[in-house]
Amino acid sequence: MALFSFPSSRRKFLETAGVVSGTVAAAAGRLMASAGLGKGTMNTPDIYARLGVRTHINAKGTYTYLTGSLMFPEVSQAMEEASRHFFYLVAQMLGVEAAMVPSGAAGGILLGTAACLTGNDPKRIAQLPDVTGMKSEVVIQKTHRNPFDHAIRNTGVRLVEVDTSGELESALSEKTAMMYFLNAAQHQGKIGLEEWVEVGKKHGIPTFNDAAADVPPLSHLSDYNKMGFDLVAFSGGKGLRGPQCAGLLLGRKHLIEAAILNDCPYEDTIGRPCKVGKEEIVGMFVAVEHYLRIDHEAEWKEWEQRVGAMEKILTSVTGVEVGRFVPDVANHVPHLYLKWDEGKLGLSKAECAKKLREGEPSIEVLEDDYPQGMSVTPFMMKRGEELIVAQRIKAILGQARRQARS
Ligand SMILES: *Cc1c(COP(=O)(O)O)cnc(C)c1O
Repeated sequence: MALFSFPSSRRKFLETAGVVSGTVAAAAGRLMASAGLGKGTMNTPDIYARLGVRTHINAKGTYTYLTGSLMFPEVSQAMEEASRHFFYLVAQMLGVEAAMVPSGAAGGILLGTAACLTGNDPKRIAQLPDVTGMKSEVVIQKTHRNPFDHAIRNTGVRLVEVDTSGELESALSEKTAMMYFLNAAQHQGKIGLEEWVEVGKKHGIPTFNDAAADVPPLSHLSDYNKMGFDLVAFSGGKGLRGPQCAGLLLGRKHLIEAAILNDCPYEDTIGRPCKVGKEEIVGMFVAVEHYLRIDHEAEWKEWEQRVGAMEKILTSVTGVEVGRFVPDVANHVPHLYLKWDEGKLGLSKAECAKKLREGEPSIEVLEDDYPQGMSVTPFMMKRGEELIVAQRIKAILGQARRQARS
């Protein structure tokens, strides 16, 4: 059973991105017409109220098209300070060989792949995405294909899909630059983490683990490097709650050095368009520092309590099954699910999600990413928002029930 499917997330991303940019465009129009006097709500921070941009309660999690996470205040403060002073910082506090700050996990995938292709050869660095005379293939399991593998293909390589261990062995050749693994799909492919690393080592081919959304737990920040992956990428703006335009690329020293050579501030490089400012680098540094320090057990307990508060409100709705779950990997935090007979209630999950999105305040939930049912998580909610979310869902389901009976 697939816990989530990238094709469906991707479709949803495109649909929702359309909605979001539409909202922003409409807001910009309004701004010009009314000299910035947009209508805010109680929940709308001033700047968004002024722009007339509608904000939402995020009951869904760390989704980039919903602007990811909210930075720890420590991070935004450090970024503010960094924007006033010039800093040169090297982040290496995770007990891994080397680290750099790319523009996000996708930037890390691009630079990591480029590093495997070019090493620190300036001619090759300038030549990408033309891979003439270099290795030209990256191996990936079929079940690990996802929209973000575009960042691999940006370097000019061809993806070679495999299914079984046997296929993997015969796909590897002197053309293979790298073996990419999608951490979130670790239970969906026939080849697991350890075997992937082992085969890479046997053939002397660098292995890459894309673990973008995969903290918590904290230990993941070094687990995969310790396991033997040569490169590991995380998003800065997901579980780490650092800057949205930053990430972590962790790995072997020679590869990280090559990745840096393929990046900004160098000019004739494939990574130049993925610029990261000193504010993001400092912000990322502080996010990691903070993440290493916070009480993860207490944070988990608080999420559980808030899920419990929603559960209490929603268990009283007749005909609706309410329960809890924690996704095994990626967004590994407490979730609440709701399941009902859509025919009987005359309300689909999608319709319920739409009502939540269009209501006041706007609320984003997970409608079909998990088999358990429509889901919400307090992971990215501000304190107290869980009660607003639960009351609104209760009202919508209650109304559907009354209508279905009359
Ligand atoms: C979010 C995500 C990315 C992209 O991460 P950014 O930090 O937004 O660049 C890449 N891979 C996976 C699996 C993701 O979930």
